Amino acid sequence: MSRYYLTTAIDYANGDPHLGHALEKIGADCIARYRRLQGDDVDFLMGMDEHGQKVALSAERGGMPTRTWVDTIATRFESTWHSLHCSHTDWIRTTEDRHVEAVTAFIRRIQEHNPDDLFLGEYEGVYCVGCEEFKQDAQMVDGHCLEHPTMPLTPMREQNHFFRLSRYGPQILKAIAQGAFRVEPRIRRNEILRVLEDGLQDISISRVRFPWGIPFPGEEDHTVYVWFDALINYLSATGFPTPGFATRWPADLHVVGKGITRLHCALWPAMLMSAVLPLPRMVWAHGYVQWEGAKVSKSSGVAVELDEAIARYGADPLRYYLLREVGFENDGNFTYPRFDERYVADLADGLGNLVSRSLAMVSKYREGQFPSSEENTPLDTAGLAAKEQFETAMNRLRLRHGAEAAWTIVTAANQYIVQVQPWTLAKTGQDQDLDRALAALGRALYRLALLCQPFMPAKALAIWNALGFTEAMEAGHYTKFDAPSLAGLVVQPLAPLFPKRKPEDYPIG
Ligand SMILES: [Zn+2]
Repeated sequence: MSRYYLTTAIDYANGDPHLGHALEKIGADCIARYRRLQGDDVDFLMGMDEHGQKVALSAERGGMPTRTWVDTIATRFESTWHSLHCSHTDWIRTTEDRHVEAVTAFIRRIQEHNPDDLFLGEYEGVYCVGCEEFKQDAQMVDGHCLEHPTMPLTPMREQNHFFRLSRYGPQILKAIAQGAFRVEPRIRRNEILRVLEDGLQDISISRVRFPWGIPFPGEEDHTVYVWFDALINYLSATGFPTPGFATRWPADLHVVGKGITRLHCALWPAMLMSAVLPLPRMVWAHGYVQWEGAKVSKSSGVAVELDEAIARYGADPLRYYLLREVGFENDGNFTYPRFDERYVADLADGLGNLVSRSLAMVSKYREGQFPSSEENTPLDTAGLAAKEQFETAMNRLRLRHGAEAAWTIVTAANQYIVQVQPWTLAKTGQDQDLDRALAALGRALYRLALLCQPFMPAKALAIWNALGFTEAMEAGHYTKFDAPSLAGLVVQPLAPLFPKRKPEDYPIG
């Protein structure tokens, strides 16, 4: 069993979780579940970024002590991820002792291995509190941050500790060229290559007299710059600096939004090189969820209420819709009319209908018991082709194509039913043919449950249990994908998987 360590970005504790956050967590969860089906021992980290000015300001506005504020927000985020069926195995908060210790040890390690990488200097520039980042000309338009066009930039001048980021551009370029450090998808890789080729600038990594942060080792009235602090969370969760951390580090995959690619693909690898630690194997930078062309986020003022989106059909249909329609690569649109269309076509009339009519035929013609016919049918051929497509897509993190591949089984099964007409076989007493058809449909549902599981874990489990399995779905079942046997299993009652609703039942979307 190989280990697979993946992380999502940690979110600023400055407001409620929104649809943009949700896409990232759901996508990462889909990958985590896929890796588990493949037999990997998965470490899946999620968490909160709780230091920095933005968080301190939000707490002040919220009229709460900062500590109480971050506790409240962390609880809200984690319970939202649970309600979306995220299967993270660790939850890190940057205010935890384990993280403070890791950040301190990390900076000490740089001081020890590459003392020249840290130096005192004067910084003068403009700072975006939204990004918690000093901005260079290329990151601004009309005097505003590209990510935060409505927020003012703050001029700042300080005597700070600096990190010699400029030194590491060539080494990072080399690591990308060699494939030791992968940046995906390609559009993001090309962006980062341009940034690296243009040359990196040294950055200030401490703040003076800003109390809501981690004390800078050896300089008590400075705190560590929030991004320098935050990036280390991926390492803190492995137990760094205790020696056992090396069994979990490096991470196989950091899933982040495209707006923070530079921090993950330039600053973070440079920090690790400076501390003489291995680089993560891959960064995947997804696009944004858009609402009629505008980015969904708190700062953009465009909010689709996440709770409302979950309440519409439950967690699994939202997961499916986000990954299938919005996608995990480029920006994609979220609209309620399109969500409703997908729900009806793909889920209610597609998967849901196939499952219920197949199980009903087994109940009606074979008293609920799957017949034992192992004979290969065109439906099995379609199932194996779907698996191949599915794995190719999922291994490349093309989640949308993974879902599409699974749905080819739905189409194939519906065609198969039309073709063989089990009801005619029953009427004319062609028992052997009927057994063959019902067994083939059972295998198709088995395969569908497995391929849908990363996208819709609760619905997949419902299908699984309806097939008569009492044990949990796991990697061992995936290894039997090519030739599963359902002989003797007894169909269990299944509530409608995707009930349709009347238009007047919907809240205005
Ligand atoms: Zn910004």
